[in-house]
Amino acid sequence: MTEEPPPVPHYLNFVGGRWVDGERRQNTNPARPGEVVGEYALADRAVVQEAIDAAGHAQSGWASAPVGQRMEILDRIGTTILGRVEELAVLLSREEGKLLGEARAEVTRAGQTFRYYAHQLLQPQGELYSSTRERAYAEVRRRPLGVVGVITPWNYPWAIPAWKVAPALAYGNAVVLKPAELVTASAGELARIIAGSGLPPGVFNLVFGSGRVVGEELLTSGGIDGISFTGGTATGRHVAQQCIAYGNKRFQLEMGGKNPLVVLDDADLEVAVRCALDGGFFSTGQRCTASSRLIVQTGIHDRFVDALAEATRALRVGDPLDERSQLGPVASADQLAQNIEYVEIGHREGATAVAGGRHTADEGQFMRPTLFVGASNDMRLAREEIFGPVSCVIRVGDFDEAVAVANDTTFGLSSGIITTSLSAAERFKRLSRSGIVTVNLPTAGTELHLPFGGTGASNHGPREQGAYARDFYSVPVTCYTGW
Ligand code: NAD
Repeated sequence: MTEEPPPVPHYLNFVGGRWVDGERRQNTNPARPGEVVGEYALADRAVVQEAIDAAGHAQSGWASAPVGQRMEILDRIGTTILGRVEELAVLLSREEGKLLGEARAEVTRAGQTFRYYAHQLLQPQGELYSSTRERAYAEVRRRPLGVVGVITPWNYPWAIPAWKVAPALAYGNAVVLKPAELVTASAGELARIIAGSGLPPGVFNLVFGSGRVVGEELLTSGGIDGISFTGGTATGRHVAQQCIAYGNKRFQLEMGGKNPLVVLDDADLEVAVRCALDGGFFSTGQRCTASSRLIVQTGIHDRFVDALAEATRALRVGDPLDERSQLGPVASADQLAQNIEYVEIGHREGATAVAGGRHTADEGQFMRPTLFVGASNDMRLAREEIFGPVSCVIRVGDFDEAVAVANDTTFGLSSGIITTSLSAAERFKRLSRSGIVTVNLPTAGTELHLPFGGTGASNHGPREQGAYARDFYSVPVTCYTGW
C-alpha cells in the first residue's frame, strides 16, 4: 500500500511506493516570475538507485499480473486525469506558460493515452508461423524490456511522460521517470494519480533533479534495461554514448527539429498563413515539430509575406490564463536568452525582421513573435533549432528547389507543404526525408494512435506512440515448438 501524498504544493520523489523528501527547490510561474508554483524535493544518487532497485524487484510481478488487472489500472489512471483536466491544465499553464486552451488539450491527450494503451492490451501480442521442420511450429512472442528509465523535456510535461509511461506499463515494464526540472508540479501530480491507481509499489517511480545527477545515474546504472529519452540533440547524443558504454542498454531518442513548411505558388493563401502562424508561433514556438523554415515559391512570396507579417503582428501575447491570449511567455529565462541571441544572429546574418524583432527589457519573459524574410538556408537562423517564436522565410524558384532546401538539414522530424496540386502533394510525401509529412496542415500536431518520430539528428530508435510503441518497450522472442 502507498502512503498518502503530502499536501500541495510540495512534490516529493516517489520511490517503491513511498514519498521521499530531499533538498527542496522552488519552481516559478514564467508569466509572473516570483510566483511560486510548487516546491519539489531533489533526489540524490542514492535515492535514484533505490528507485531503480524498487523497479527491478517489482517488474516481474507486474509483467505476470493478469491482463485485466493491467488494463483496469491504466484505464483508471487515464480516467482520473480526464476527470481533473481543468485543474491540471491551470497548473500546467502556471508552471510552463502554456495557454490554458493548449494545456487543456495536452492534459486530455495524456488521459486518453493511458486509456488507449489499456485497450492496446487486447490487440494480438505475437505471431504464429509455420516451421520448415516436421511436426513443429514457430511463434514470435513479446517479453517486457524490463526496467525503463524515462527522461523527458519541459515543453510537454503531460503528453510526453504519458506517451512513454503508459506503453511501458502496459507491456509489463517498471518505470523510473525523471522529468525536466521546470515542470516538476505536473510530474508530481501524475505520480499522485498513479500512486492512487492500485499499481503495485515499485512499478512506477519518480525522481526529481538535474540531468547531470539524476539523469546520469539512470544512464550509468546496471539496473536499467532501457532509456526512453526526449530532449535536445546534444543531450540525446550523450544519452546514446552512455547507454552503449554502461551495459549496452536499449535506447530510444526523440530530439530536436528545424522543420520546413513549403508554400507553392498554387497554395490557398489563407491556409498557408494559418499553417505558418500555428506551426511557427503557437506554443511560443516551443515545439519540436514547429515549422521555423518557411520555404516559399517566388510567385506567392510577396503576398504571403505581407499577409503573414500582418497576422504575426496581430497575435496577442499575454497571460496564458487569459483566454484572449494567443501566445504565452517563454518557459524559462535561459530559453528567452537563447531566443534573443538568435534574433540578433538573424539581424547580423542579413535577414530582415518584418514582425517582432529586437526584445525590450520591459517585456519580461514574454517575447513578440518574430518573422524574418530574405533568409537563406545556410544561415544559422535556418539551420539551428531555436525553440522559440522565430520563423524565417526562404524564397525558392520551383518545386524541386523547395524540396532540396526542405531536405537540406541535419534534422528530419516534420515537414509540410501547402499546395492545391495533388501531384505536388504526392511527390512531396515521397521526396521529403522527414518522419512526419503534412499537407495543408501545420507541421505540428500529432495524434496518439499514429507513430511519431523523425530521421537524422531528430531520432534514434523505434517510433513512439500508437501500436508502434510496443517495439521499444518489448523484446521479440522467437519460440520453436516440436510436437
Ligand atoms: P534537454 O536535452 O536539455 O533536456 C531533456 C531532459 O534530459 C531533461 O529531463 C534533462 O534534465 C535531461 N538531461 C540533461 N542532461 C542529461 C544528462 N547528462 N543525462 C541524462 N539526462 C539529462 O531538452 P529540453 O530543453 O528539456 O527540451 C527541449 C528540447 O527537446 C528541444 O531540442 C526539442 O526539440 C526537444 N523535444 C523533442 C521532441 C521530440 O519528440 N522529438 C519533443 C519535445 C521536445
